[in-house]
Amino acid sequence: MNEGSIKFNCLWEQKEVGFPNEIYVQLETARRELYNRGLIGMYPNGIGYGNISVRKDNTQTFIISGSATGGFSYLKQSDYAKVTNYNISENTIYCTGLIKASAESLTHAAVYQSLPEVGAVVHVHCLWLWEKLMKDYPTTSPEIEYGTPAMAEAVGKLALDIDGREEKIIAMGGHHEGIVVFGSSLMEATEQIINIYNRFKND
Ligand SMILES: [Zn+2]
Repeated sequence: MNEGSIKFNCLWEQKEVGFPNEIYVQLETARRELYNRGLIGMYPNGIGYGNISVRKDNTQTFIISGSATGGFSYLKQSDYAKVTNYNISENTIYCTGLIKASAESLTHAAVYQSLPEVGAVVHVHCLWLWEKLMKDYPTTSPEIEYGTPAMAEAVGKLALDIDGREEKIIAMGGHHEGIVVFGSSLMEATEQIINIYNRFKND
């Protein structure tokens, strides 16, 4: 069976998830910077895009913006979900929250799994930046489709390959407009994407 055909499974425990207010403030501060630049947002057809996550110290658990929240300028704490476990090859995540975690959680999970020192992952959409990054930056194969275990695996592998680099940014070749950036903290990841955005914007 082509692993791209494995359906995404979200095993969702629908209940409130508590996490420190300090983390919530970090998430909203970073998200605001991204939202203001259209890196997180909503297409005219009403489909939201972009998500951010923070890892719980030294675990594989992370807090991520909820499914279909891209269009909101601010998120409440209950608009975030906690991913408690996942299985990349089975295209499955386990999450808790009043909202489901994004289907793109597996890409975040793959980066956390590859690199224990990564504390935050940011996934944004930006057509012109994506096109520029695909020329010179690490890019997953265009044949690897969005939402597949193969995409999560490819991002995880590239993350490992570029670990020593100053800029930790990946263009998702088979995910139109998709870009992943990560860092030891949410601030570091967000600053990287904003710096690159500003630099290329004036080219
Ligand atoms: Zn995306």
